[in-house]
Amino acid sequence: MSASDLDDFDAIIIGSGAGGSTLAYGLRDSGARVLVIERGDFLPQEAENWSVEAVFEHKRYKPAEKWQDARTGGWFQPGVHYFVGGNTKVFGAAFPRFRREDFEALQHYEGVSPAWPISYDDLEPYYAQAERLYRVHGSVGQDPTEPARSSPYPYPPVPHEPYVETLAASLAALGVHPFDLPMGIDLRTGGACIRCKTCDGFPCRVQAKSDAEVCALRPALQTGQVHLLTRAFARRLLTDTTGTRVLAVEIDHRGAVVNIQAPTIIISCGAVNSAALLLRSATEKHPAGLANSSGLVGRNYMVHNNTAMTAVHPVRRNDTMFQKTFAINDFYLGSDDWPHPMGNIQLLGKLQAGMLSASGRMVPRPLLQWIASRSVDFWIMSEDLPNPDNRVTVDGKGRIKVHWRPNNTAAHIRLVRNARRLLRNAGYPFIATQRMGIETNSHQCGTLRFGHDPTTSVLDPYCRAHDLENLFVVDGSFFPSSTATNPALTITAQALRVTDHLRRTGVVG
Ligand SMILES: Cc1cc2nc3c(=O)[nH]c(=O)nc-3n(C[C@H](O)[C@H](O)[C@H](O)COP(=O)(O)OP(=O)(O)OC[C@H]3O[C@@H](n4cnc5c(N)ncnc54)[C@H](O)[C@@H]3O)c2cc1C
Repeated sequence: MSASDLDDFDAIIIGSGAGGSTLAYGLRDSGARVLVIERGDFLPQEAENWSVEAVFEHKRYKPAEKWQDARTGGWFQPGVHYFVGGNTKVFGAAFPRFRREDFEALQHYEGVSPAWPISYDDLEPYYAQAERLYRVHGSVGQDPTEPARSSPYPYPPVPHEPYVETLAASLAALGVHPFDLPMGIDLRTGGACIRCKTCDGFPCRVQAKSDAEVCALRPALQTGQVHLLTRAFARRLLTDTTGTRVLAVEIDHRGAVVNIQAPTIIISCGAVNSAALLLRSATEKHPAGLANSSGLVGRNYMVHNNTAMTAVHPVRRNDTMFQKTFAINDFYLGSDDWPHPMGNIQLLGKLQAGMLSASGRMVPRPLLQWIASRSVDFWIMSEDLPNPDNRVTVDGKGRIKVHWRPNNTAAHIRLVRNARRLLRNAGYPFIATQRMGIETNSHQCGTLRFGHDPTTSVLDPYCRAHDLENLFVVDGSFFPSSTATNPALTITAQALRVTDHLRRTGVVG
């Protein structure tokens, strides 16, 4: 499609990641003509998809763009991927639901994680739909924190490989409850997944990962009702004279600036870029940025407190190919000796030597290979709390600045300590950890929080901007709290809920 065919749309979706593509899928049979605008192109299927050097050392799929760290003034390369499908093109495909308690006000060690304007039960039917759409494999009854479900998982869990099975049994003997991590990979009968080592953090060369392009956008495009314009960067939103309706999206398409109009506009650029788009859209009527009468656009930026943990057993080789198959939530809401939430411990995709050398350049390669062949690798993830001073701003040139100071870190330190103790007791004498910094923003959320009150939130509970009658946002920016769980399933479930609302109320379709 070219910029000359850009009229007569009922809705424009900006951004084709988890939120945007899922919403496009939900509207595919609504009768509406929908245009998806994406700044990136299709991610090519090529040998480099599975090359550790290309992906981790040369960062082939990351943009050259740099964001500024407001604390140091330095520039960093953010963890974003500007392609059709967004960050899901490289994600780890873990698709857990949030816990019931995550939707309620929850006392943490350093403060209260606020209640959401919707409950777990409001989202439950959409979780079930999202699990079907994204082919989620999982099992019920193992996770002590799991919320009630209206239906079983659509597919059985991804089986553990022998090394992981043994480790899960050792950890269970120590009193915790490793559970099958809900995963979106195509292990259906005849499915394309080969359970390789290059899933988490890599694009899938055989398109067997349940990313937003494969599972949602492609079927939507096939209907002929949904159209896609790639390499189209949304620069600003233009409003009418009253300042209460978005009239058009100003895009930069292959060097030309074009305005595109539709009665309904949905933003889904990721939590940082959606806030940046609204801030760049400031006018006389909206001097602090669009949808910003609350002053909260860009604020309450959250990313989780994250630590990568590598446990090495000197004589036990780990030949696992697909390692990301269990997680532990025993400390999620607290423990006997610490009554505050700590978070989630989750297996990572299998670490390979080149991934280590991307961060440990001084260590000789043979040593890295030795470590990688004997390690088992985890992601330790804790909730960070919304703080209005943690925020995204844009400078005069539209460049992104991130103001970020981690909080609730005592809980994270406790969780890391608990994970370390468990792995020591399971027989691993060497354990290395790496705390993630500002550039690890894969779970970015919170910059346009939803809520009932227009003075304390940017979006209403159906993700419509309080200030604008025809503007919706369906990426991770609507989260009022980050929880300590992977965000993609909740983003897609809410996108389906918003779709339902748009269709039911006749806004679109
Ligand atoms: C390495 C990695 C591993 C991860 N693993 C997991 C996991 O296992 N489970 C999980 O739940 N989550 C995981 N995540 C996070 C998950 O991918 C994100 O939470 C999810 O993709 C966010 O969805 P979104 O719709 O908010 O944004 P995105 O999916 O990032 O989509 C945003 C889209 O908007 C486009 N865009 C941005 N700005 C503009 C603009 N101005 N104009 C036009 N287009 C624009 C982008 O190119 C992109 O396509 C991972 C992320 C990474 C990076």
